[in-house]
Formats: sequence, C-alpha cells, structure tokens
Amino acid sequence: MGNFEPAPDINCSLCSGHGYTLKPKKGFAHATICSCVERCQRCENGVVRKQIDGVWRSGRCRCQKLPDRIAMFNRSGITARHGDKSISNFKWIDASNHKIQTTTSLWVDRFAAGAEDKGIVFYGDVGRGKTHLMVGLCKMLIFDHGIPIRFIEFSRLLGQLRAGYSAGKSDEAVLGELVTVPILAIDEIGKGRLTEWEISIIDDIISRRYNALKPILGTTNYQWRGPSGTPVPALASQEFKQTLGDRIGARAFSRLVEISIPLQLHGADYRGLDERDVELMVRQASESSKPPKPKRFR
Ligand SMILES: [Zn+2]
Ligand SMILES: [Zn+2]
Repeated sequence: MGNFEPAPDINCSLCSGHGYTLKPKKGFAHATICSCVERCQRCENGVVRKQIDGVWRSGRCRCQKLPDRIAMFNRSGITARHGDKSISNFKWIDASNHKIQTTTSLWVDRFAAGAEDKGIVFYGDVGRGKTHLMVGLCKMLIFDHGIPIRFIEFSRLLGQLRAGYSAGKSDEAVLGELVTVPILAIDEIGKGRLTEWEISIIDDIISRRYNALKPILGTTNYQWRGPSGTPVPALASQEFKQTLGDRIGARAFSRLVEISIPLQLHGADYRGLDERDVELMVRQASESSKPPKPKRFR
C-alpha cells in the first residue's frame, strides 16, 4: 500500500486500511479520505514551515500524499460500477490465470520504475474479469505509485466526441488529454456499431500514443488477431467471430500489438456463478497450480 503518513488504520472497517472510502458521484467512483486517518501533527493545513538560516521557508507536508492520490483517483474517470475493484479482491477461479497474476504484478513494478514501455490488453470472453483486473492495475498505479491514469469506456468516448462536436468543440479538446496522460485505460476496445469515423478516432488515439511512446491498458471481447479478411457484410452477421483487427482496422491493431502485452483470460463466466461456486473454484485453482512435490531421493 501507498505508505502514507499519518497511516490509515489497517483494521478500519470502513476502508480496510486503504485510507479512503468510495461513493458514486455522477456515475463515477469518488473517493474521500477515511475518518481513521488522524490529523497530521507536523503541519498546518498541509503546509510545513521551517526556519533555515534565519529565513522562514514553507513546503508541502508528507501528509498530503494520500489526499493528492485520492484527488488523482477522482480525476481518473473510473466509473462507479468498477470503483471498488482491485487486484486483491479479484477471484482467481482458473489455474491458468495465475500466470496473469504474476505477469501483472511484475508489470506494475517495472512500469513504475520506468523499465517498461508496453501496456497490457486483457482479452477473452465476456464475464472473465478483464475490466476488474484493469481497474485493479489502475488503482495500484495511482495509490501505490502516484502515476496518473485516465479510464474511458470505448463507447462513452465516442459519445463524448459526438457531443463535443455538436457543442462546437474541437476533437483536440477532448482527445488532447487522452494522448498525454501516462496511462490510458480503454475498456471494451472495438465495442459498438463502428462507423468509419469511429474507426478513424480509435486509429488516431492509438497512433498518437504509439508515436509518443505512451502505453495503453485495455480490455476487449474480440480475438487478439488482425483482420480476418472476411468481407464486411458477412462480418455483421457473425459479430462474435470477429477479431480486434476486424473491429479497429489493420493499422491501429498492428500498432496496438507493438505497444501491448496481450493477456488472455480463461475460465468460467463469473456472472453465472454464486459466491459458493466462486470460493470452491478459487480453492481448486490454487491447489492445482501448486508446484509438484519434489521427488525424494532413495
Ligand atoms: Zn479507514
Ligand atoms: Zn502534515
């Protein structure tokens, strides 16, 4: 966790030691500092004053780290529906996903250390927890490392652009931030009834981030493959068979490939499972992925 001072109470029943609580606000997740975080004794309203060589100087107090990261989270655009999702409350119900657990946690460390310039795209069928994992990574980047992210639902982005256009805004006003933010997290890449204009927008965002060496985190329900070559009228009738390349075009897909680590999520659809099933599957998955016992020498 973020190593905050004064430290949140790890036994706090409101925040479980995270230091913030969540409430929806206009459809987005909104965090507020938890009441278990005590008042700082070192500063006044976040400002420390010190006398150095007879001159009073003031600076920002360390206690501002948690409020700063909360503010960063509140600007990230993570939707209310996904706000409470984290890596620690993800249910690893399929043994094959344990590799993903390792890969993602290494990725966060490497990215935070400046040693990784690729993002991660989670793909697989609906209900496998792709968005859950992506939001979990976003929250680690924000709260543990202070790295700004911008979360956007693909279909909502296009709606915002359309609304912006009718309000006379340039797409630069809407797109600018999506290009400059250190991590852009796009949920459900390729979703929707894509017009040529919409494909050109996603192509533009991916190209500009590619050129700026800025990675993308993403999720998609489509197969992680280039265009299938199926003619367009035939594609419309078999949406589930489409590849991401079919959806966003060859150019955008090939750039995304270059700047991403693709991770496929396997396992059952969570939405059809009750809590007991999930717990049982988590147990089975963790047992089956234990390393085999070493053979005894005779
Ligand atoms: Zn608390
Ligand atoms: Zn302070």
